[in-house]
Amino acid sequence: MKVVETIAEMRQLREQLIEPVGFVPTMGYFHEGHLSLIRRARAENPSVVVSIFVNPAQFGPQEDFSSYPRDPQRDLAILEKEKTDVVFMPSVAEMYPPDFDSWVEVSKVTERLEGASRPGHFRGVATVVAKLFNIVQPTRAYFGQKDAQQAIVIKKMVADLNMDLEIIVMPTVRDSDGLATSTRNAYLNIEERQAAIVLYKSLSLAQQLWSQGERDAEHIRQQMRTLIQKEPLATIDYVSIADPETLKEMDRVKTPALVSLAVEIGKVRLIDNVVVE
Ligand code: AMP
Repeated sequence: MKVVETIAEMRQLREQLIEPVGFVPTMGYFHEGHLSLIRRARAENPSVVVSIFVNPAQFGPQEDFSSYPRDPQRDLAILEKEKTDVVFMPSVAEMYPPDFDSWVEVSKVTERLEGASRPGHFRGVATVVAKLFNIVQPTRAYFGQKDAQQAIVIKKMVADLNMDLEIIVMPTVRDSDGLATSTRNAYLNIEERQAAIVLYKSLSLAQQLWSQGERDAEHIRQQMRTLIQKEPLATIDYVSIADPETLKEMDRVKTPALVSLAVEIGKVRLIDNVVVE
C-alpha cells in the first residue's frame, strides 16, 4: 500500500495502476459504512484508491471542522488490511492553496433538505469531489446511500459536466439496533446513543404506514414528527418525503419515495433515510 500526500505523487502513481480503478472518497475515522464501500471497490476493481481528507469547504462556520474525529494511524492500518493500493491524504493547503478561486455549484437539488439547512455544504462537497476525480481519474467511485442527497448531487454533477466515470451507491450500513453507522456517532454519550435510535424508528414507522396503505405524505410526516418529539433529547431539523430525483416534497406518496430526516440528539446532528419502493 502506498500512502501519498501530494497531488503530483498521486498523479504519478495513477499512471502505474491497472485499470479499472475503484475510488472511495472519505473523511476518515472509518466505520462499517466506509468498509462496505472499500470492500465493494476491492471486489470490483484490480486497483483501489481511498482518499482521506476532512474538507473544510463543506463545513459551515459554526460546524465541527476542527473537532471532527480524526485517527489516521488507525485508518491506515484498516486500509492495509483491506488491501488498498493507494491512500491519498492531502493537506488542506495542498487542496486549497491561498489563491484557490474556482467552485462547483450544482443547482436545484442542492436547495432542499441538507442544502437548505447547511448553506454552502454541497458547493464544498461538489468542488472537492470534482477535484478528487480530476486527480485520481477513477473508473468507478463509491458513495453511501446514508448521504442520499450527496449521492444525488454527485450523480448530477457527473452527468452535467460529462465526467467519465461510473458512480456506485451502496446501501446504508446500520448497527444492530438500526442506527446508521456514522463518524458523528462518536460524539454521542450513552444516553444520546440510546435516544438516537428514534431516527430509524421513525423511518421504520413511515415504511410501516406505507405498507398499511397510507398514501397521505403529510400524515406520515406528522406521525414521524410525533414519534421523534416523544424523545426528550431529540430536536427535529426536517422530516421529508420527497421524489428521489428532484427532492420535491410529495403530497401523495408515489414510489420510489425518499423518506429522510435530520435530527439533533443533544448537540449532535444526525441524518438518515430509507427509500420506499
Ligand atoms: P464520510 O467519511 O462521512 O464523508 O463518508 C464517506 C463515504 O461513506 C460517503 O460516501 C458516505 O455516504 C459513506 N457512508 C457513511 N456512512 C455510511 C453508512 N452508514 N453506510 C453506507 N455508507 C456510508
